[in-house]
Amino acid sequence: PQRRAIALDELIRETVEMLQTDPLRRGVHLSLELPPVVASVDPDQLRQVLLNLLRNAFEAVGSAGQTRVSLSVEDGKALMRVWDSAGAIPETHLGRIFEPFFTTRSGGTGLGLATAYSIVRAHEGRLQVTSSPQLGTEFTVELPLAVAEE
Ligand code: ADP
Ligand code: MG
Repeated sequence: PQRRAIALDELIRETVEMLQTDPLRRGVHLSLELPPVVASVDPDQLRQVLLNLLRNAFEAVGSAGQTRVSLSVEDGKALMRVWDSAGAIPETHLGRIFEPFFTTRSGGTGLGLATAYSIVRAHEGRLQVTSSPQLGTEFTVELPLAVAEE
């Protein structure tokens, strides 16, 4: 990846802007919690990760649900969380959703999460998921913070 210091909050706002006309986006409530966080990332690749996660979230909740993207810094890492209120990934699927071609959607490719996973790994980051009927589904992307130029 062509990494440089990128303001993740700005990148997220731009990506959300790109999705305004996406039919999946219609009617879905999206809230943003975006304090300034600068990470060392390839902006095109990271935009792809976010698009894949957001499209999945919009698809999962349909027009009645809630979604959220939030940023934080924890333990010296940048964390980007994409949450939706649907939360119904069965335990048996959870271990497989990052596999290429695993899909439960008619017309799905099963490539969105596999692509996101390999991009995040190439950044020496981590991509994790939690899902429960009560709390919804949350994907957490952990990325290296940008270090100051010497
Ligand atoms: P696709 O969207 O083409 O099915 P993905 O790799 O993006 O492929 O996702 C793989 C599978 O993971 C989906 O088919 C779905 O079963 C599950 N999944 C992904 N994101 C979510 C989500 N936010 N909520 C519920 N299930 C999800
Ligand atoms: Mg997808």
